[in-house]
Amino acid sequence: MQEINLKPLEIKDVGTVKEIKGGVIKIGGLASCVNGQLIELAPDLMGMVIGFTKRDVLVLVLGDENKVNIGDTVYGEEGVFEIPVGSNFIGRVVNTFGQPLDGKGKIEGVDSYPIFRNAPGVLDRTPIVEPLLTGTKIIDTCIPIGKGQRELIVGDRVTGKTTLVIDAIINQKNKNVICIYCWVGGSQSAFLKIMEQLRLSGAMDWTIVVAASASTSPAEQYLVPYAACALGEYFMDHGRDVFCAFDNLSRHAWIYREISLLLERSPGREAYPGDIFYIHSQLMERAGKLNEEKGSGSMTFLPIVETQEGDITGLVQSNLVSITDGQIYLGSSLFNEGFRPAIDLGLSVSRIGSKVQCEAIKKVSRSLKREFAQYKELAALTTIRTKLSAEIELRLKRGQALKDFLIQDKSKPLCVEEMIVLFYAFSKELPEILEDAQRENFKHNIYAYLLKNHPELIEELTIQKFLTGGVERGLDKAFEEFFAENPQQQIDSKE
Ligand code: ATP
Ligand code: MG
Repeated sequence: MQEINLKPLEIKDVGTVKEIKGGVIKIGGLASCVNGQLIELAPDLMGMVIGFTKRDVLVLVLGDENKVNIGDTVYGEEGVFEIPVGSNFIGRVVNTFGQPLDGKGKIEGVDSYPIFRNAPGVLDRTPIVEPLLTGTKIIDTCIPIGKGQRELIVGDRVTGKTTLVIDAIINQKNKNVICIYCWVGGSQSAFLKIMEQLRLSGAMDWTIVVAASASTSPAEQYLVPYAACALGEYFMDHGRDVFCAFDNLSRHAWIYREISLLLERSPGREAYPGDIFYIHSQLMERAGKLNEEKGSGSMTFLPIVETQEGDITGLVQSNLVSITDGQIYLGSSLFNEGFRPAIDLGLSVSRIGSKVQCEAIKKVSRSLKREFAQYKELAALTTIRTKLSAEIELRLKRGQALKDFLIQDKSKPLCVEEMIVLFYAFSKELPEILEDAQRENFKHNIYAYLLKNHPELIEELTIQKFLTGGVERGLDKAFEEFFAENPQQQIDSKE
């Protein structure tokens, strides 16, 4: 008897396109679809269910909406939106769908991960104890960040927000941390400048860029942070440390507001929909540090959010402040007066605190935040007085020295040992007795001097991460030698 090869019967949910507007499609039918499900809109175009009305299904177009027409038949697919993931993505620039944007050819993923995924449960996590060093002095000493933490970067336009996260990415060289830079909704020209910076610094060797510029579809811009997060989760699940920066979530909130208005959801405060808190908390809670059983991987988030005229009480900003484990506030007046990175220490905090710092940096930076606040208060009080006591003069000089030490150029991240050396000198009241130029010379050259002439001290510091009596005495002596060997610069500075 002849064998009949029957293909299994495929039953699909069917619907008809009723309305198309601004990246959102209204579909009749699709009786059994669920939120987040994929819908085949055209042979090479997918959509994702994002909501329902009484009769219709609302679908977000994942691509060009011009490929769909009113009256088209669409089909419900099995499964949810997933993106390919894997180590091949390191060094590449991709879009929300994991497709390359750098023209270097197709990227083969080893697995695929859903972009919306439940965050690890409490029992799968472990306390955050390891530092994630950003290379920015003011952060690593006063607002330390741990592996698995979420630290918000908040500030007005052009206050150095992007620079902070790019420097943190550059600083992960040889630190076995995978970096993900997620670009949400900004201009293509600004994005290209940032890409150039990443390429020139060599940081692409350990970085993945996931981008959706303002010219892409609303769906791409809305989903891009979740896609970046899914890529990071792959590495976290494989026991790696991941650092992910979102630049920026204000633009993410704006695009979600636009989509929500198209979905005819009633606008609430600042015209944002009611679930704006949820979409950000859903993202932020996916960061964390996994326990040993789960492979000890971690994912650290540095989301950026914009403010207007320094107002952090806006809906999106205050939501994010409450979701994250601390914030770094960048002030435009500090930026304009030349204090860069323009971090306002009074308004910045890390709720993980100094428990992630090594003993040495903890010791030298314990009182920096307080001393700086006192200096600012004193400086404000004494601006109009001409005659000051010697003691006040000295305190002002010490404050000024601290301010100088905290100022740092962009793209010049420092290793933790250099920070320890600098702030150890500060704790020894060295900088305030130096003239300005001498201090600059000391700040820029002392570490290179120590590496050249006393490598054993730096080695011991690197291994021990502790300021032993021997290291302290060695440093004191080395500082004296440094000044003895650099008299010319001291004389120059006084001229
Ligand atoms: P936007 O709101 O446009 O996204 P932003 O807050 O991300 O801006 P950046 O683009 O990082 O700000 O920086 C703005 C400018 O300030 C850049 O030209 C950058 O080179 C400069 N800048 C930032 N940080 C420093 C620094 N520490 N030292 C010197 N220049 C800096
Ligand atoms: Mg920026």
